[in-house]
Amino acid sequence: MSNKKLLDAVATEVIVCTKCDLWKGRVKAVPGVGNPESQVLFIGEAPGQAEDLSGEPFVGAAGKLLDALLSETGFSRADVFITNVVKCRPPKNREPEPHEIETCTPYFDRQINIIKPRFIVTLGNHSTAYILSKARLPFQSITKARGNVREASILGLKVAVFPTFHPAAALYSAQYKKQLEEDFHRIRDELLKRGLAGPSIS
Ligand code: URA
Ligand code: SF4
Repeated sequence: MSNKKLLDAVATEVIVCTKCDLWKGRVKAVPGVGNPESQVLFIGEAPGQAEDLSGEPFVGAAGKLLDALLSETGFSRADVFITNVVKCRPPKNREPEPHEIETCTPYFDRQINIIKPRFIVTLGNHSTAYILSKARLPFQSITKARGNVREASILGLKVAVFPTFHPAAALYSAQYKKQLEEDFHRIRDELLKRGLAGPSIS
């Protein structure tokens, strides 16, 4: 079966999922979007209000910033795959709780297994903690982990992991914004080095 069909099957389950209480507050679940054949995957935290209403990840203010940062890597959002650790919006945009992450991430693991990305950009604390723990790599804080590529083995896949700040953090802090921009320069370099950069620069 094609990656697209397999990802659609995951999305079909996510959309009606009631495995944790987050389903109760959702308008739409947000399974993920993008190119099913992409070698590059971006992973955020959880849907916010704009995402809950549209069913698409990163379409609100943080998403606009992500789109701008993405262009640095030669990609548009349709070229890569974008999803979140948790697929339904937590009430009042609170952080996802550990049991919600544990309940929801089997969907993400299945998405990784289907896409088999070669490069994963983790956006913020929760996605970085999740991916690095999957890779059995130490994680102290996003401030320490950000900006450095790690060679990892996740679910039997060899993959480069690049942690950076969550774009929402940069909306309120000029310093985070600058560091996020620096990180995307590094991401561009790392992708170019691996022959994985987007069509508009490679
Ligand atoms: N923040 C996230 O982590 N994910 C989204 O999809 C939107 C905002
Ligand atoms: Fe299901 Fe995940 Fe939504 Fe919880 S957050 S209801 S586990 S899709």
